[in-house]
This record gives sequence, C-alpha cells and structure tokens, in this order.
Amino acid sequence: MSGNGNIASSAPVTAVYLDHQATTPVDPRVLDAMLPYFSERFGNPHSNHAFGGEAADAVATARAQVAACIGATPREIVFTSGATESNNLAIKGAAEFYRERGGDHVIVAATEHKCVLESARAMAAAGTRITILPVQPTGLVDVGALADAIEDGTALVSIMAVNNEIGVIQPLAEIGSLCRQHNVMFHTDAAQAIGKTPIDVEAMNIDLLSISGHKIYGPMGIGALYVRRRPRARLVPQISGGGQERALRSGTLPAPLCVGIGLACDLAADEMAPETSRLMVLRERFHQRVLDAIPDAVLNGHAERRVAGNLNLGFQGADAETIVERLDDSVALSTGSACTSSSVEPSYVLRALGLGDALASSSVRVGLGRFTTEAEVDFAADRLVEAVQQLRSETPQPTGALAHA
Ligand SMILES: *Cc1c(COP(=O)(O)O)cnc(C)c1O
Repeated sequence: MSGNGNIASSAPVTAVYLDHQATTPVDPRVLDAMLPYFSERFGNPHSNHAFGGEAADAVATARAQVAACIGATPREIVFTSGATESNNLAIKGAAEFYRERGGDHVIVAATEHKCVLESARAMAAAGTRITILPVQPTGLVDVGALADAIEDGTALVSIMAVNNEIGVIQPLAEIGSLCRQHNVMFHTDAAQAIGKTPIDVEAMNIDLLSISGHKIYGPMGIGALYVRRRPRARLVPQISGGGQERALRSGTLPAPLCVGIGLACDLAADEMAPETSRLMVLRERFHQRVLDAIPDAVLNGHAERRVAGNLNLGFQGADAETIVERLDDSVALSTGSACTSSSVEPSYVLRALGLGDALASSSVRVGLGRFTTEAEVDFAADRLVEAVQQLRSETPQPTGALAHA
C-alpha cells in the first residue's frame, strides 16, 4: 500500500492529555512486563503445579515491589481491584471490626475521594459515628482540629495523602504520630501520592494505605491495601471466598495486573526525584504562561505543599464545564474528579476550601504527567487562555468580578 505515509501525516492532531489525576497511560515498560502473563505464563498463581508456580513467583516479586515503595514488608500488602476497593476494605473493615470493641467513631476529611466518604456514610447507617473534618482554605487538614476531634471511641482516622483535585499533600507524619499517640488507626488514600511524594509507613505511622494501579502508569483494575502487622491493624473482610490474601480479600489474583502494579511502583519510586523536578519546571511554565495572559487566574489549594504535576485554576466569569467542552478536540483536562463530572454541582472539594459557587464552577484541573512535553505545555496553555478569554468576552461580566480573587 502506498498510503501509509499519508495516513501518518494526515492523522488528526491528538489532543494533549492533561488529565493525569483521572488516569495515566500504562508505561510501555510496564506493558512489556505484563504481556507474557496473559499468554505463555497464564497459570493460576494459587495452583500447585509449575504453571501456577511461575505466576505465583511473579506475584511474589510484585508484592515485594509494592511493599518496598512505601517502606512496608511484602506480607503487609493485600492486592485488590483498585483504590476504591482498598478504601472500602480499610474503612468498612476497620469500622466493623472495632465497632463491637469500643471503637464506634471514624474521622474522615471533607475533601476525601467519594469512595472514602461513601464508605464512611455506609458505616454511619450501620451505627458508626462519623466526623467529617473540615479543611483549611489551603485544602490542608488542621492537625490541631483533628486532635480535638479524636475522642475515646475513635477507632480510625482516614485522611488522604494527596488530593486528586487540588494536589495538596497532607501532613501525614504529623497526623500519623497524633493517631499513634491516641491509639487510633490511621488510614491514608495514597492513590495520588505514589511516585509524587515520599511515603514511609514506618516513619509516618500509617496503619492502612490504599494504592491504585492506573494512577501510577500501571494497569486499571488493580490496587493494593497496606495492612500493618505490628501493631496489627484488624479488618473484617468485605469479600467472602477461598481465603486468598490472608483471608482479607478472596478471589484469584490477576497475575498480569499484579506484575503491572509491581513494576509501576518500582518505577514510580526510582524516578520520583528527577520526575518531580522535571514536572515542577513544566507546571511553573504552564502556570506562568496562563498568568501572563490572565493575571487574575486563581490557584486553588496550597501554593507549595502540592505535587508537581497538578494545578487547579479558577477563572472567575468563565464556566469551567464550557471551557472543558471547547477544548475537547485539542486539550483533555477536567473540572475535577471524573467520578462526579456528570453532575453539574460545583466540586465539593473546592467548596470545602471555602470557594463560592462562582469560583468553584469556573475552576479547571490541569494534570501533567510522565510523558508530558514542553511543547505540549505551551500548546495547551495557549488553548486554555484562548478558551477563557473567548468565554469571558461572550459572557457579561458582573462589575468587579475580575477585580478580586
Ligand atoms: C482514582 C482515585 C481513587 C479510586 O481509585 P480506583 O483505582 O480508580 O478505584 C481513590 N482515591 C483517589 C484519591 C483517587 O485519585
């Protein structure tokens, strides 16, 4: 065929992907490592023959890789289907175990992922008392306010490591030592933290920690829950079956996906320092380019205590949903969490920071990632600026709307 060159050159310009907090592409190195476990090494890792043994060895290596990237031991890692399941197991499992043993109170932050908030809500219906801890205007938890919220019956505190909308990093070590001091279990949803900020379950006194494969350049459909052994974090399993994963999560382990999340964790930890520096430069470049054209753009969330790849920007007077729609064929970004993007409600995370409806509904999330280039940053920033300026010129601006942030 003579058309191959033509097909390549006339291919539509692929949209620049700046939604890495929603999901990440699988790293080619991860895909390569996974592939044999779909085909020639297809054994059930729980089978007692050579086929099973080969898969079981790969799962063991993966478990060690996941453990190493958070300072845990392999026996403390439970594979799940994703961070949603890990969070459900941690919160429901702990709430159910401790409810009958004097611990009927759970504290979660207002800006947690929906799956944490909904798991807590489900436990409230079953008799656990839930405190939803407000956050500061920066998005950070006030550790003093958390200390005040802890009471005799508090069994569990669940505070995410990195927020998926605004990228802020919570003071995990302070929260962990406070919880340990009060003999309260500390769970953290670290889906957005692996490879972006150092995590050490020992130094930070973390008892339970959730990971997701597809947020760290691994596959969708796999996650992990770290469950501390000493002092032991106790959980009621949420899935019944053959007793795999130390009876905490029954079901056949998906060996190819385990291999994928294992290597993804390994690469994330290995490359964290240089990748953080690289992304910081790109993020500042993006932010500055936007500010040069739109000086009143507002940065939501703490300016320094945030991961390198995230910006959440408010453009008063320009509707964020419309910005996202207009950028649809050139830049992929989002107004916040993908899980709530079908609703027209402004982000509950931004509301928890104290933003009014107007600014909350005019804020977009920019998520840079491992394969984002400088050229993409420039292109995307320019498209975003155009979209905002166009929208503002079409929309009657209330007096003073642009004057304050
Ligand atoms: C994506 C995400 C989840 C859900 O993870 P899945 O693996 O998609 O179930 C939970 N918490 C945070 C902070 C996330 O970003």
